[in-house]
Amino acid sequence: MPKSKPKLAMYWAASCGGCEIALANIHEVLLELDQHFDFMFCPCLLDTKRRDILALDDAAIFLTLFNGALRTHENLEMAQLLRQKSQVLVAFGACAASGGVPALANQHGLQDVLDTVYRTAPGLDNPDQTVPGTSSQVACGELTLPAFLPCVQALHEAVTVDYTLPGCPPEPLQIIAVIRQVVLVLSGAAWPPAGAWLGCGQRAVCDECPRERRGVLASRLVRNFEAIPQDGWCLAEQGFACVGAATRNGCKALCPAVNMPCTGCYGTLDRFADPGAAALTALAAVIDPCYTHGMDEATWHKNMRTALSGVADPLGTFYRYSLLDSVSAGSTDKASS
Ligand code: SF4
Ligand code: SF4
Ligand code: SF4
Repeated sequence: MPKSKPKLAMYWAASCGGCEIALANIHEVLLELDQHFDFMFCPCLLDTKRRDILALDDAAIFLTLFNGALRTHENLEMAQLLRQKSQVLVAFGACAASGGVPALANQHGLQDVLDTVYRTAPGLDNPDQTVPGTSSQVACGELTLPAFLPCVQALHEAVTVDYTLPGCPPEPLQIIAVIRQVVLVLSGAAWPPAGAWLGCGQRAVCDECPRERRGVLASRLVRNFEAIPQDGWCLAEQGFACVGAATRNGCKALCPAVNMPCTGCYGTLDRFADPGAAALTALAAVIDPCYTHGMDEATWHKNMRTALSGVADPLGTFYRYSLLDSVSAGSTDKASS
């Protein structure tokens, strides 16, 4: 009888599906995955049910890639269940690692979130102002939906996470590298240190960026639609809100390489205590709001407002993926490999 393969699971909580697309984007390496693992649970792709997971022995799943933040009680229950059933649990992608974009909702109350999504957002067609509830009576009985948690959480806030693979989503090349690393573990190699962040390093995106720093300061920040960047020149020095200087490397400067500022999806470097402060500091270093000696205060404030007018949403710019790692939300201990 052939030896059974180690079980591999992938789960999405409060996610967009992009992490599953990233896994699909490893293309033919999926065959390697299939060669080494029994890919047995992935709600996006497979019809395995929760009851099938409940029926497994504890630690029966070798490796679970968990993407998405924890927004609902269902997300939390699945995180706890998969922790119990998995030998190794990986926070896969920025949402699982640090709350990601879903965690930006924590700056609003739950009622505000529901009102915005179902009642007030432009373009809604909801004349009866219907808002989903946790229980609804329909012809065939009661329908239930999981309740919101009070706040969006990162995976490590609810359960012990063995490794983190950052990115929004993680880059396919990094996913492949991690899969091959795990295959080596199956052949007897050692695991990376517990708690390590995989597929990334402790250098900044700037270190891998092909754009040239010219030592020129921009007079103001600009929004992406306001200007077309010059080829080959650092985007931040042209006034774009590129936070590559505060972001850990691993993606090979994917966004700046195609004229888009880095928004920080690989997370901030360990040496920075607060991701948003690091991003703001990196940008402040390349912006010159035209201070001259003896400038009056009103002119100075006007120049500062002009310089910062390219940041329409400070929290979403400086903490887009990492609000839960901010000093005010409590920081995490990270070790990279
Ligand atoms: S990390 Fe990015 S791609 Fe993955 S679920 Fe979150 S938003 Fe989607
Ligand atoms: S700030 Fe952005 S564009 Fe400039 S070098 Fe760093 S990553 Fe490249
Ligand atoms: S350049 Fe920045 S935003 Fe783009 S993939 Fe890399 S870390 Fe993420």
